[in-house]
Amino acid sequence: MVNELIYELNTRGVDFIKVVDISMLSKKENRGYNIAILIGIVLSPDYILRISKENKVDHSEFGEKEDKAGDLSEWTADFIIKKGYKAFAQSDRNLIHGFFDEITKTTPLPHKKVGILAGLGWIGKSNLLVTSEYGSALCLCTVLTNAPLPTENRKLIMPKCGECTVCKDICPSSVIHGTTWEPGMNRDLIVDVYNCTGCLKCLASCPWTQKYMDNNIAKQDQCKSY
Ligand code: SF4
Ligand code: SF4
Repeated sequence: MVNELIYELNTRGVDFIKVVDISMLSKKENRGYNIAILIGIVLSPDYILRISKENKVDHSEFGEKEDKAGDLSEWTADFIIKKGYKAFAQSDRNLIHGFFDEITKTTPLPHKKVGILAGLGWIGKSNLLVTSEYGSALCLCTVLTNAPLPTENRKLIMPKCGECTVCKDICPSSVIHGTTWEPGMNRDLIVDVYNCTGCLKCLASCPWTQKYMDNNIAKQDQCKSY
């Protein structure tokens, strides 16, 4: 089943899929499911270039890919249910029905926590998931299931932010505190989410995101010159 699912999701535009065991998490977090599937769609280098250079908020590609990740998580849950198992898509549409706490702006199991269990990256000083390959140029969604899928949990990656403070310095609302994440740390010590405007400057300006952008724009230029 997993190969069929990966094939179907890849043909629908998903860039990566990770399947992790979440049985060790609390019942509040895993809601009785033992597996989480992480669906990732990567933001294009051209979009990252645009939002890092322009002095205006542009949610166009980000919004489109966030919606697509949510839609595909719902598609995945339906696919699994049709195979006879239970599944719950953690799309915005589904989380709004009692799973997203409007006051604390939290969900029991954030997508980025599944990303950490998959060894995809670390929590940066921006409070975003940062990966070596794409920086934070990602749109994520997750599906919880009891389907017997092979899992690939990886060792926790500790933050590779070092002395960098780019996200803190660029944040127009000054809501990033510059704190290095540790497991179990309260999110409010890292960022004041209540006053974040969602401008994406921290996402685009992170040196890891910029490295992904530079490498891929260079590759595009090489292809054009052939
Ligand atoms: S999205 Fe904008 S306002 Fe929010 S933390 Fe990032 S830079 Fe600051
Ligand atoms: S901008 Fe720098 S400090 Fe912020 S998340 Fe990226 S590497 Fe970490």
